[in-house]
Amino acid sequence: MNMIFLGPPGAGKGTLAAMASKSMGVPHISTGDLFRAAIKNETELGKKVKDILAEGRLVPDDLTVALVRERLSLADAAVGWILDGFPRTIGQAEALEAIAAVNLVVNFDVPDEKILFRLTGRRVCKACGKVYHVVTMPSKAEGVCDACGGELYVRPDDREEAIKTRLSAYREQTAPLIDWYGGRGSLATIDGSGTPEAVYREFARIAGV
Ligand SMILES: [Zn+2]
Repeated sequence: MNMIFLGPPGAGKGTLAAMASKSMGVPHISTGDLFRAAIKNETELGKKVKDILAEGRLVPDDLTVALVRERLSLADAAVGWILDGFPRTIGQAEALEAIAAVNLVVNFDVPDEKILFRLTGRRVCKACGKVYHVVTMPSKAEGVCDACGGELYVRPDDREEAIKTRLSAYREQTAPLIDWYGGRGSLATIDGSGTPEAVYREFARIAGV
């Protein structure tokens, strides 16, 4: 089954995609991972992406689409895939439509105040990358990683102003995809505000897995 996971930053798409990938045996493809892999492997596309990101620019659609097309052509994607973070615009969705059929688009619906709560409370260990939440998953000692004793910090992306900027970019550029896919009959919206386990059960019911 070919799937797209849609939703605002902080909706839990990445976590859910990892869970679904594991249980369904299909690759979880995120554009962030594709960019990192292309740069690491020093492919032609990777060199271009590296220069663009170094200049602080957004990777243009044609380049992102080329990376996705290349990834979807690999053998492990023949059984299906989950795209996470792509398409981000209607232009990208049209490009994807020309590459592959999409069977299911899952829209994880989470209210803005819940997203702000999740992301502003997030703390990340500087040393090992372990993720905490000040309310729902606190470290034993405030500001100190349980696993390695490293210092916990707020990622610049998780500051309230940055989150509001990311949310408005999502509402403007990506949310129109909800109607776009809705009109194609492949959309399912699920409430993404519960625990990952609860959201996964709802996903599994809808996907029939
Ligand atoms: Zn740590």
